[in-house]
Amino acid sequence: MALVNDHFLKLPNSYLFSDIAKRVNAFKAQNPKVDVISLGIGDVTRPLPPVVVEALHRAADEMGAEGSFHGYGPEQGYDFLRKAILRNDFVDRGIHLSLDEIFVSDGAKSDTGNFQELFRWDNSIAVTDPIYPVYIDSNVMIGRAGTVDESGRWTGVIYLPCNVENGFIPELPQQRVDVIYLCYPNNPTGMTLTRKELRRWVNYALKYDALILFDAAYEAYIRHDDIPHSIYEIKGARKCAVEFHSFSKTAGFTGLRCGYTVVPHDVTVATLTGERVPLNPLWKRRQCTKFNGTSYLSQRAAEAVYTPEGREQVAKNIDYYMENARMMKERLSRIGMKVYGGDDAPYLWLQTPDGMTSWRFFEQMLYGAHVVCTPGVGFGPSGEGFVRLTAFGSHEATEEALDRISRFY
Ligand SMILES: *Cc1c(COP(=O)(O)O)cnc(C)c1O
Repeated sequence: MALVNDHFLKLPNSYLFSDIAKRVNAFKAQNPKVDVISLGIGDVTRPLPPVVVEALHRAADEMGAEGSFHGYGPEQGYDFLRKAILRNDFVDRGIHLSLDEIFVSDGAKSDTGNFQELFRWDNSIAVTDPIYPVYIDSNVMIGRAGTVDESGRWTGVIYLPCNVENGFIPELPQQRVDVIYLCYPNNPTGMTLTRKELRRWVNYALKYDALILFDAAYEAYIRHDDIPHSIYEIKGARKCAVEFHSFSKTAGFTGLRCGYTVVPHDVTVATLTGERVPLNPLWKRRQCTKFNGTSYLSQRAAEAVYTPEGREQVAKNIDYYMENARMMKERLSRIGMKVYGGDDAPYLWLQTPDGMTSWRFFEQMLYGAHVVCTPGVGFGPSGEGFVRLTAFGSHEATEEALDRISRFY
C-alpha cells in the first residue's frame, strides 16, 4: 500500500484562479451578451520580440541538422547564455559573479518552489504578506508550514504584513527567522523596496544569520534609479542571498520557459553541529539529479534578449504595459480610489471602497462594471480589502475597462 504524503492534503483545494474563473463563467452564463474585460490577467499578452523568434528558427534548424544537433545540454545551462546573463544583468551593474554561480532554469516558479528542498524541515520561514503563493505552498508540501487556520494563516509561517499603515514596506521580523522570502518589485502589490530599504534586510540577514530568497522576476519593470534590480547591488548580499530571475515577464517567455537562479559561493548554511556548508554545490547536485536542463531552443531565445535589438524590442513591450499601468493609476486615483504600486511593476493594488471584502468588491466589479480583478485575499490574509489589477491587457481593453469603472463608481 502506498501511503500519501499527507502534507499535500493540508493544501486548500480551491485555487484562486479557478475560483475566479468559476464566478466569471457563472456571470457569463447569465449574461451571454455582455463582454467582460479582464484586468486580472497574470500573464503577458504581447507576442515574443522578433529577434527571439528569429533565434528560435535558427536553433530549430540547427537541431534538425547533423553536426549541429544538440542533445542533453549542461544541467546548469549553456555558457553562451550564462555569459550573456553575467555581462548584461550583473557586470554592467557593477556586480561581479562567476559563471558557476548562475544556474539556468525553466523558470522562476520551479526554482522558487524547489529551492526549499535544501533546508531541514524545521527551519523557520518568513514571507511578506500578501505574497506569490508558491513560496508557502512548496513549504506546505514538505511539512514545514504546519497547519492552516480559518484566517488562512499557516502556523509554521511567519507573516510580515504589508499594509497601508507601513506603506507596504514590511517590518523586520521580531523573532528568529532562518529563511526569508522577498519579492521585489512585488507581485501582487506592485510595490518596491529602495536600495536603502533593501539594505536593512541584508544587514538583518547578516546579523542574525538568516538566508534571503530574493525573487526578482519583475526587475525589468523598474523605472526609478533608487530601486535595485538585484539584491547583489547591496554590499554583503552575496553572503546571505539567493536570487531568482525569469524571462517570463521580462521578454514574454511564459509559454517558452527560461529563467535563472544565482547561488553565490559565499552563501552558506549550517549543520546541526555548527559547520558551514555552501549552498552552491548543493543546488548543483540537486539540479543534476532532478533537472535535465532547459531546452536549447529556449536558451538561444533567451540569449537573443540581450542583443541590442533584443533589448530594444523587450523595452518596447515593457513600455507598452507600463503605459497601461500609468493610465490605470491616474484614472483610478482621479475617481477617488486608493491605488498603490504600478510605478515600477505591472501590478496595481487597489483598496476596496468602504472596507468592502476583496470578494464582495470582485463581484461588484464583475456585475457592475463587467471587469474582472483578482481578490487580494487570495494572496494572503493581509490582502483582504484589496484587489490586484494587472497592466498586461491591450491599451484598448484597459481604457474601456477604466471607462466602465469610472461610470460605475
Ligand atoms: C510570474 C512570476 C514568476 C515567474 O515564473 P516563471 O516560472 O519564470 O514563469 C516568478 N515569481 C513571481 C512572483 C511571479 O509573479
